[in-house]
Amino acid sequence: MRVDEAFERERAAGRCALSFEMFPPKGALTLDEAHVIAGELAPLDPTFVSVTCSAGGSGNGGATLEIASMLARDLGVTSVAHLTCMGLTREGLAEKVAAFRAAGVENVLALRGDPVPGAGAADYPFARDLVADLAEAGFCVGAAAYPEGHIACDDLMEDVRRLRQKQDAGARFLVTQLCFDNEAILRFLDRAHAAGITVPIAVGIMPFMSKQQLARMVFMCAASLPSPIIKLLAKYEDNPESLRQAGVDYACRQLDGLRAQGVDGLHVYAMNRPAVAKACAAAVRG
Ligand code: FAD
Repeated sequence: MRVDEAFERERAAGRCALSFEMFPPKGALTLDEAHVIAGELAPLDPTFVSVTCSAGGSGNGGATLEIASMLARDLGVTSVAHLTCMGLTREGLAEKVAAFRAAGVENVLALRGDPVPGAGAADYPFARDLVADLAEAGFCVGAAAYPEGHIACDDLMEDVRRLRQKQDAGARFLVTQLCFDNEAILRFLDRAHAAGITVPIAVGIMPFMSKQQLARMVFMCAASLPSPIIKLLAKYEDNPESLRQAGVDYACRQLDGLRAQGVDGLHVYAMNRPAVAKACAAAVRG
């Protein structure tokens, strides 16, 4: 199913959309492992599951298409394949489009990707350029949004104007970067709507698992760290298991608060952990 239709179906049923992100597991057992993880996500009845790709086609990014296809074909789950601009030429995109069509992939999240050394010259400098060509090719295209602004853009209004360009280029839904502050998320949604964004926005929430992981994400995404999280880090400094549980609980409170505010959708960065996805689904759907 197309993601725009899936959002519409949820809206008509009076439900908040709920989606999960998966990444292709590393190593030889990639697809078997992915099958197991996807098999545990499917009964949670997600609106869609998106599958990440490594920028520039490096690492395990090649499995994105296979996993997205498997989710839809074998499990009946609406899936989204991520695709980045890194190193992507027009000929390369034509090949991707043919492969997506052959595999029955209907939805693509079009991303610029983070610059990769040696990825080569690309024909798509920004995500909006890729959005346009994928939409033209008939896909239901999504794009990334940043509640606290993209790390390379220090003007929040400019950031949202660039987001609007992705909608104008044909994006039919948006998924946001993780953010630990619901107030910042709600302010972003107001800015986006005021800038004429009308497509559904799935708000990205990441349950944190450890101090190291939090530090990595905060510096990678320029996400702010609210003091309640810093207090949890201090409280459970010597107890990693309790900290993980506190991270899931914090995410569940965020999800519950955002659902109560009537957001279009909630997108959980479940990190290939079905138990985390399950806890989050319970917070959203009861
Ligand atoms: P863009 O929308 O192209 O924006 C990139 C930067 O360029 C921004 O600073 C923007 O303000 C600026 N910009 C945009 N248009 C213009 C313009 N016309 N002129 C000047 N500047 C402009 N990365 C991966 O490698 N693989 C993944 O699977 C992946 N999945 C993601 C999923 C989500 C939901 C999100 C939020 C991010 C994901 N990323 C992924 C990370 C993403 O690739 C990076 O955040 C990347 O740096 C920006 O991607 P974008 O699509 O937002 O780029």
